[in-house]
Amino acid sequence: MTTIPAHALELHRSALVVDTHNDTLIWVLDGKRDLGIRNREGHIDIPRLREGGVKVLLCACYTPASLMPDRCASRVLKLIDTMYRLLARHPGDLTLARTVGEIEQGVQKGKIALVLTVEGGHGIEDDLGILRMFHRLGVRSMTLTHFNNNNWADGSGPHQTIPNHGGLTDFGREVIREMDRLRMIIDISHASEETFWDVLDVSTRPVIASHSNAYTLAPHHRNLKDDQIRALARRGGVIGINYFPPFLSSQASAAWEEMVESETYQQIQEEWADDLLARERAVEQLARAVIPPVPFSLILDHIDYIVNLVGVEHVGLGSDFDGISVTPQGLEDISRVPLITAGLLERGYAEADIRKILGENWLRVFREVWGA
Ligand SMILES: [Zn+2]
Repeated sequence: MTTIPAHALELHRSALVVDTHNDTLIWVLDGKRDLGIRNREGHIDIPRLREGGVKVLLCACYTPASLMPDRCASRVLKLIDTMYRLLARHPGDLTLARTVGEIEQGVQKGKIALVLTVEGGHGIEDDLGILRMFHRLGVRSMTLTHFNNNNWADGSGPHQTIPNHGGLTDFGREVIREMDRLRMIIDISHASEETFWDVLDVSTRPVIASHSNAYTLAPHHRNLKDDQIRALARRGGVIGINYFPPFLSSQASAAWEEMVESETYQQIQEEWADDLLARERAVEQLARAVIPPVPFSLILDHIDYIVNLVGVEHVGLGSDFDGISVTPQGLEDISRVPLITAGLLERGYAEADIRKILGENWLRVFREVWGA
């Protein structure tokens, strides 16, 4: 394992490090993972968070599209309950943040601040009342789709059961206006290009891509093209770099897409249709065999690319840990994040800019959208 220079570690530990996407809650649901101990499985628990110096996490309540149309909201509620039970179990380590003030107070007390988010707009079951209740329970950001199209927005995925709407429907536009009114952050990761442009047309606030990369470096439908990155930056938004090798490298991307089309993959999907975690584990085994290893430095390449395109104010970290079946070499879990700080220093970034990338950019957007 690469050792991290003392100076880089010092800078990292003194920075407010934010990670805007993980799927850890789905592994904790029903008491399946104890975050209080260092686990051999997965990417995130409290000991590894402490080691990795990550202080603020946006935790996704992820709803598989298979639960559409009427089992999505209850799924989100169970994950919100999981979050509240985690907070009760680890009061010395974890705190819920609904405002920037709560982030700052929590971090000052040495705690890790957790923010609730929803991944997959189908979670609201086409009901603005459910959206408002999620906000009341603490949800502060939502991706409009997952890979799938829902009834009011198109996702970026190629195989859809619901035909494309060509972006947002009229109700989709209402969702955007209500999220703006509630001051809930609109997250365009997973959205199709048409949805992206419709969102920018309707929303008046900064929007984010919590876990997406640059399409030019890795041409995958989950990534953002240059004109999207420019438009998002003009709006004051931030892009969180996703650590998933197929979104980082074009070779890994091609291997992943080939795997997804394979019979073995389809068999896994059918065999474990009702068991998300078993399905994830089976996909992980398959992915490890077919996805070529990629070095963690590709994360730095995507950061460089976005910085060169739109400046240092519009990029951050959005690992996707516990939601990705393979990881880059060197960044096997969240304990290894200081490696990114060391890499940025090595590439000549100023310390003030590194602090922006590690977290200050996100804090700016949170303050602007959530209010003071
Ligand atoms: Zn995702």
